[in-house]
Amino acid sequence: MIDRTSHYIDGRWRPSTGTGTIDVIDATTEEAIGRVAAGTAEDANAAVAAARAAFDGWSRTPLEERIGFLTRAAQALQARQTEIATLVSQEVGMPFAYSNVVQAGLPVQSLVSIAEVASTYAFEETVYNSLVVREPIGVVVAITPWNYPLHQVVAKVAPALAAGCTVVLKPSEVAPLTAFVLAEVFDQLGLPPGVFNVVTGTGQSVGEALVGHDEVDMVSLTGSTVAGRRIGAVAAQTIKKVALELGGKSPLVVLDDADLVEAVSAGLNGCFLNSGQTCIALTRMLVPRAAMAQVEAIAAAGVEQIRVGGPFEPDTVVGPLVSAQQRDRVVGYIEKGIADGARLVAGGPTPPDGLERGYFVRPTVFTDVSEDMAIVREEIFGPVLVIQAYDDEEQAIRLANDTPYGLNAAVFSADRDRAVAVGRRIRAGQVQINDGAFNIHAPFGGYKQSGNGREFGAWGLDDYLETKSMQLP
Ligand code: NAD
Repeated sequence: MIDRTSHYIDGRWRPSTGTGTIDVIDATTEEAIGRVAAGTAEDANAAVAAARAAFDGWSRTPLEERIGFLTRAAQALQARQTEIATLVSQEVGMPFAYSNVVQAGLPVQSLVSIAEVASTYAFEETVYNSLVVREPIGVVVAITPWNYPLHQVVAKVAPALAAGCTVVLKPSEVAPLTAFVLAEVFDQLGLPPGVFNVVTGTGQSVGEALVGHDEVDMVSLTGSTVAGRRIGAVAAQTIKKVALELGGKSPLVVLDDADLVEAVSAGLNGCFLNSGQTCIALTRMLVPRAAMAQVEAIAAAGVEQIRVGGPFEPDTVVGPLVSAQQRDRVVGYIEKGIADGARLVAGGPTPPDGLERGYFVRPTVFTDVSEDMAIVREEIFGPVLVIQAYDDEEQAIRLANDTPYGLNAAVFSADRDRAVAVGRRIRAGQVQINDGAFNIHAPFGGYKQSGNGREFGAWGLDDYLETKSMQLP
């Protein structure tokens, strides 16, 4: 049992002022593997006080020194890659081979990327008679979800520290363990006390105490749109900056000249990665009506090939969902899809054979759906794909945009320029063209109710800076 019941505040491990704890559950065995503190408002206040006290010194620490901490943190995380990948595979259920590359690998890459970006960033410029300087915004509260736990933490902490901000992190209470690895790394590197703090607990207690705190200058949340709405409202009382990275219901548009096997296989991977628990999951496949039967057959055969199993079994492609709550929610959507009249092409609400223990759900594909069905409109956050027919390109674009979300999209075509032209008309922060790969150096964020921030690259750094103009004589 991993005991993480102390917060990391002001460079020290401090027990919570409360007595409550939260168990961390292994998604495959359903057993507790660790425990964190259910922190209190008092804990939150102590962390903010430490971050506030450290801000003046850290913000004036030379940029090269700040960057040096990020580079060394990347090396230290790299050295603990297997441990990180194992923890996330246990907490979240992602197959270990993927976890190793994504959950443990991406944080290392993004630390290195932000260090590079910061080293050439234009923190100052002259505009007519003004010196325009970009300064750290101050004390940043970072609130993160469970699906890519360390990746989402580093996506905030790296640019915030590079900018000269100090940070209070509240990781997800569902998958908090790797946040402590990062705290240990910074502690061992001798990061000054108070620059980086971790408090654990629920959103309602610790989270809201941090968001409402008047000594906090900015809140950066990655999480659900429901949490984003609430955090925006609480933060508005103190007019602090709020950067939101929220949910999605992302379309994959298969144009009529696309290679169907290539498009559908990419679509299945894009939907089922991490058991569908990916904010950019491509959960709506839009297909020319004439190609529907063929696409359904390719999808059914593709799902047949997907091995569902424990994350530490070598051939597993899809592991369990993160929690009983998430499993029940996803199964509820599958049952609702059936009740609403959609047709199952693959999968269904019952657990895969022999996997009754662990929060497993079968990769599921629906067709014959209508635009108003819950499975078409709402973020399910599980391995559920809907295939929708369209009659012409205009309708495909209209359906792609017919969602309150705008996080991600994909367009497949034999003609790259045609795919890019369609991609330009989709209201989303990311568009994947054919097999275009995820890029840690490119801006990442949402349109519409998918959020208002941008992470990674220079855009990630921008979010943590204030702009001051000094008028010179
Ligand atoms: P969640 O919204 O339940 O929780 C996210 C974090 O917010 C947690 O740390 C939680 O404790 C905290 N929180 C919740 N309510 C709060 C409140 N009122 N005040 C302060 N903090 C609060 O989300 P989740 O279930 O952990 O993650 C899944 C969601 O995250 C999905 O909707 C997914 O699309 C989204 N997500 C978005 C991105 C992105 O980059 N856009 C990436 C990953 C996940």
